[in-house]
Amino acid sequence: MAQKLDLVPATEWGFFTLPRPMVIAGPCSAETEEQVMETAKGLNDVGIHVFRAGIWKPRTHPGSFEGVGTVGLKWLQRVKRELGMHVCTEVASEKHVYECIKFGIDMVWVGARTSANPFLMQEIADALRDTDIPVLVKNPVNPDLDLWIGALERLNQAGIKKLGVIHRGFTTSEKIPYRNDPGWRIAIELRTRFPELPFFADPSHMAGDRKYLAELSQRAMDLGLEGLMIESHCNPAVALSDAKQQLTPSALIDMLENDIVVRDNDTDSAAYREGIDQLRAQIDVIDENILFAMKSRMAVSAKIGKYKKDHNIAILQTGRWDSLLSEMVRKGGEYGLSEKFLVQVFNAIHEESVRVQNDILSEGK
Ligand code: PEP
Ligand code: MN
Repeated sequence: MAQKLDLVPATEWGFFTLPRPMVIAGPCSAETEEQVMETAKGLNDVGIHVFRAGIWKPRTHPGSFEGVGTVGLKWLQRVKRELGMHVCTEVASEKHVYECIKFGIDMVWVGARTSANPFLMQEIADALRDTDIPVLVKNPVNPDLDLWIGALERLNQAGIKKLGVIHRGFTTSEKIPYRNDPGWRIAIELRTRFPELPFFADPSHMAGDRKYLAELSQRAMDLGLEGLMIESHCNPAVALSDAKQQLTPSALIDMLENDIVVRDNDTDSAAYREGIDQLRAQIDVIDENILFAMKSRMAVSAKIGKYKKDHNIAILQTGRWDSLLSEMVRKGGEYGLSEKFLVQVFNAIHEESVRVQNDILSEGK
């Protein structure tokens, strides 16, 4: 069972300031010294001072560009020295951690493929023990909240208090417009369980395409998250990884300043707005889940219709429906939902389901 986490707020890590969003930006991968310096300078010039770049890249296929390795850490050192920016990269093993410590990297993050693996999480936590480096943990690729919390617990038990999370969405087999399923309800649950945990969203890996970055960033802000990690490249068209989802530094600042509304809580009434907007954003997510559940239910109804047709069976079996309804009323009652409401909702669902089955039956007649 999840314990309480012992945390230092992100504003005390030494490089994030308010108002929201706290922004981390930089290329998916460090490719060349010139590309790193040019991108970092572009970001620094527009007021973004925390720089990311992947040095070791977890790629799906062998033979894809797997990162430049340790030499890239020297380029990050140069960004730090010449531009005064703070730099971070992804670690996936104890070797990566030791290299980052050696090169004075300011912050590290654990990627989605690694946070899904408790052995690697323990190895990374042990390697980070007694350091003061902030660590951000991306959600595991699969939507398993406890696995995510377990990764945080391992780091926290190794003494890492400058700890935060990055929500980047989940692998899905559903056909959706995004590269990963945002699965916001898991973020909301984690937020609710650990309200003090610094919380970033990574709209880049969620979207997979730059055209969705604004809407996903807006959603993250509406949910009250502290920050955004966004991929930015001086020339996205020639990026060696994740080309479609990267923005130039100037396009990034343009999006942040013009396409996203972030309400701060300076005054009491602004705080109220913030609260109500967060609750409404939660409702929006839940309503989307209800829509998805109804869509799935109707798809099964259609299959049942087809099955009954193939076996020459009548659509309406009232006995089955009566027992289903009374079971839903009983279960719903345990959740504190009223009988009247449940009967209305399930009768409406049943009616629609019968209609779907009827359509199947009359098909081809
Ligand atoms: C990345 O941030 O470049 C990355 C590999 O992300 P993820 O672990 O979310 O896939
Ligand atoms: Mn990437």
